[in-house]
Amino acid sequence: MLPEPREPVLAPHPTPPFLRKRVHRFVAGIFALCVVQAGLLLAGAGSRPFLLTVVFAVVPGIAGCVYTTWFLLTWHRATARAKIPGELRCWECGYSLDGHGEAGTCPECGKTFDAHATRAMWRGYSRRGRDDRPPA
Ligand SMILES: [Zn+2]
Repeated sequence: MLPEPREPVLAPHPTPPFLRKRVHRFVAGIFALCVVQAGLLLAGAGSRPFLLTVVFAVVPGIAGCVYTTWFLLTWHRATARAKIPGELRCWECGYSLDGHGEAGTCPECGKTFDAHATRAMWRGYSRRGRDDRPPA
């Protein structure tokens, strides 16, 4: 006997716009940090003390680690809030829409929202790439 067909996996949903902007800013920031570090290391290479070269290599690296940690923590916080059952967050900007009714305009970004559709998009986003089906 053939096993029963399983429900299809939910289609991947696009990332909310405010989170995409954060990723773009983060990538630009890391790139700028790399450019600054390369500039520091290449300018006057060979004529400066070794200790200064170590400082030019280590300080931007530490700054990059701190920036990456901050980015990941704020990302986790933003997405965790939006996944709280019953919580309503604007899909465009992440602003809390609790107490703003079932439909209307986001007071932060001005985009119109529908609570049912917004919750469905967040559910789709939180399940992206994950198979929530029970084991066969
Ligand atoms: Zn908004």
